[in-house]
Amino acid sequence: MRVAVVTVGDELLAGETVNTNAAWLGRQLTDRGVTVERTTVVPDRTADIARVVNEYHADYDAVIVTGGLGPTHDDVTIDGVAAAFGRQVVESEDAIAWLEEHGGYTRDDLTEGTGHVPEGSRVLPNHEGVAPGCVVEDCYVFPGVPGEMKRMFEEVADEFSGERRHVVTVDAAEPESALLDRLAEVQDRFPVKVGSYPGEYVTVRFESADESVAEDAAAWLRERVERPDEG
Ligand code: ATP
Ligand code: MG
Repeated sequence: MRVAVVTVGDELLAGETVNTNAAWLGRQLTDRGVTVERTTVVPDRTADIARVVNEYHADYDAVIVTGGLGPTHDDVTIDGVAAAFGRQVVESEDAIAWLEEHGGYTRDDLTEGTGHVPEGSRVLPNHEGVAPGCVVEDCYVFPGVPGEMKRMFEEVADEFSGERRHVVTVDAAEPESALLDRLAEVQDRFPVKVGSYPGEYVTVRFESADESVAEDAAAWLRERVERPDEG
């Protein structure tokens, strides 16, 4: 399963808020065997949200959108997603009923716009907050508040699955440029995806659907590089 993540918020683009939702979702989805093909940050602007959701809906098996879900004037995600699917925004009777029953609200307490979703959506109750999420075709819309987003994802996590990938890493205490020949050779010998990530050491990452293939490739390289613990 191939998925795209769209995080919405001017504050994310400005660097005022770190995009922890993208990292958390990336990790959760990858752990479930889903391939995250895109993570995009867009401003709180209806047309930008609509355009990217429309494009990703055509290209990927599912799209996850987080942020900009509340009823305040700067929250336009529902409008953008509705526009992407050519649907009206409607007040969901299910969402209002859920908030009355579980949220301790009366209909009159709720700010105008609460419970608005694209027509025909499946509503996702917000167990940690107020604004409900929703699912429109294969587009999942979650709140921006990290605690609310995580809880809502967990409610539908089983709808995201794929072939689990195994990752094994080897640290090398050599400059990356010195490792190029061995990286090329290990790639030739084993049907794995090889990545190298320089830092204090060079971390070489092997990824495969077959755990033993990733292990064998790592073992081959481990024998042929200077290891950090060897000084
Ligand atoms: P609310 O209904 O409370 O307005 P919302 O779904 O509209 O929630 P936002 O208004 O976009 O969410 O953001 C609410 C809070 O969550 C803000 O403090 C925002 O900075 C934070 N937030 C939003 N998106 C992310 C993200 N991708 N990573 C981390 N924090 C985020
Ligand atoms: Mg908001």
